[in-house]
Amino acid sequence: MPLWIHEILHFSIFAVLYGFTGLFYKPFKDVRHFLIGFMSAVLIDLDHLLDYFLFNGFSRFNLFEFLSCDFYNKAGKAFILFHGWEYLAIILVVAILLKKTKWSSVAFAFALGMCAHLLFDTYVNGLPDYFYFISLRILNGFTL
Ligand SMILES: [Zn+2]
Repeated sequence: MPLWIHEILHFSIFAVLYGFTGLFYKPFKDVRHFLIGFMSAVLIDLDHLLDYFLFNGFSRFNLFEFLSCDFYNKAGKAFILFHGWEYLAIILVVAILLKKTKWSSVAFAFALGMCAHLLFDTYVNGLPDYFYFISLRILNGFTL
C-alpha cells in the first residue's frame, strides 16, 4: 500500500474514532484536541524516516527507496521507536493521573490518535501480533 494512502487511512480511522468519542466526551469539542490526536495518529510514522537513515546512512536520501520500505527487508530489522502499545498505556495512566486538569483531555486526545494508528498497523501490516510492543521488539533484537 502506498505510504500516502496508509497515512490517509491513519487519519481517517482517527477522525472516525474522534468523532464517535466526541459524542460523549465534552473536551473533544475543542478543535485543538483534534489537532493533537491527528499529530499522534500520523506523525508517529516519522520514526520510519529515522530507521531509513540508520540503515542507509545519513548522507543520502532517496524518496522512492524510502516510500518502498524495502530497506527494512535488507536490514532485517525495524526499530520504529515511536510505535509501541506500552507508550499508549503510559499515556493513559498519565491522563488518568491528570484527571481534573486540562492536560488530561490533551493526553486522551494524544492516546486516541496513537491507538488509531497502532490498531491500523497491527491489523493491516501483516506483521506478528507482538510486533507493535516495543518491549518485545527489544527482546527480539528488533529483528523482523
Ligand atoms: Zn505506523
